[in-house]
Amino acid sequence: MNAVGSKPMSETSKPSAEVRLRVEELTGFHAGLVHAVVGCGLGGPELTEFFGGKVRATCVGCGLAVSGEELGRLSLAPGTGGEPDPQADRLRLGYCGRPTCQSRFYQVVVDSVPKVEAAQVVPRALELWKNPPPEPESPHVPKAPVPWWKQRRNQYALGALALVLVVWWKLGPTEGPLAIRKEPTKYQAAPDAYRGGSGEALQ
Ligand SMILES: [Zn+2]
Repeated sequence: MNAVGSKPMSETSKPSAEVRLRVEELTGFHAGLVHAVVGCGLGGPELTEFFGGKVRATCVGCGLAVSGEELGRLSLAPGTGGEPDPQADRLRLGYCGRPTCQSRFYQVVVDSVPKVEAAQVVPRALELWKNPPPEPESPHVPKAPVPWWKQRRNQYALGALALVLVVWWKLGPTEGPLAIRKEPTKYQAAPDAYRGGSGEALQ
């Protein structure tokens, strides 16, 4: 079932690379490693083979070994695999898989394969874990247009317009073509008949 013409993965002289991680970091690192090796051109059966045999985590306290495949299953919801897996449950909670072990650290070893140089892919995996790349947008599925009132820029404009209207309402002119409110009636004001004419104010 090996890919046609490819050498068995064990025939490589490139060295392995190691990184020590807290138990709860194993899942994130595994996700970063998947991204990193896919970026190296690994896919399909090669990917399965890589995580099945070239990635392993070992508890620094008790030596319990966890395969790369098992690391991948840690990101699944508990019970997804069908059978109860107390070891995986403990690892998900940040504890060593062995109930009697107090260690919180695992040493992860990644072997090189023809397409993957461990010394490069491990730092890359750490980087991708800390800063995951944005999901690429599919060019084939046109996105539904965002209604104009939901566009961020327009929302700012609407907010600004509302603010202007409020200020205008409160402080704007009370006369003339721009008037949108009237001064409250002043009952002490003189009746019209007494205005103008003599130029004298009432009282
Ligand atoms: Zn342990």
